[in-house]
Amino acid sequence: MIQQIDKCEDCSACCRSTDEIYLTDEEKLIPLYDITVTLEGCSLLSKKTNRCTIYKDRPWGCREFKCYYIYSDLSKDYLPERVGFMVQIRPKELLLVTPVAPWKIKVTEFQNWVNNHREKIMTMHKEAERTEEVSLALFLHTPYGDSRLL
Ligand code: SF4
Ligand code: SF4
Repeated sequence: MIQQIDKCEDCSACCRSTDEIYLTDEEKLIPLYDITVTLEGCSLLSKKTNRCTIYKDRPWGCREFKCYYIYSDLSKDYLPERVGFMVQIRPKELLLVTPVAPWKIKVTEFQNWVNNHREKIMTMHKEAERTEEVSLALFLHTPYGDSRLL
């Protein structure tokens, strides 16, 4: 959740697609972080501006989120809001693909979703392996769990 940097443009995919906002033990005690996650996303995402209302003070978990698009040289066609998914590189050489607003997809429809997005997922995977200079296992992350794609 590093939205609000110029490259995010009108995207707020990360704040609408998370199933949990990670808070440190200290943050759990701070009233500012009384956050709930609904089908619409994080409760601190402004519906009016499509931006985080506490951006400068956002929790550690949001600061740590690394949206691969932001660090890549990929074209705007790969902006998560446009392409329909976001990609994160995780430790242990793992690439995680999360559909935007995954709760709107029925559990039985994820295979179709993957088939429809396969070409762009593979392009991002290839690009991430090239720039990171490592082999990356590819996983699909959904509210129902993770499954390996490659
Ligand atoms: S998903 Fe990526 S591009 Fe979209 S708002 Fe989040 S950090 Fe920005
Ligand atoms: S706290 Fe802010 S940055 Fe973090 S998920 Fe919520 S709206 Fe996004």
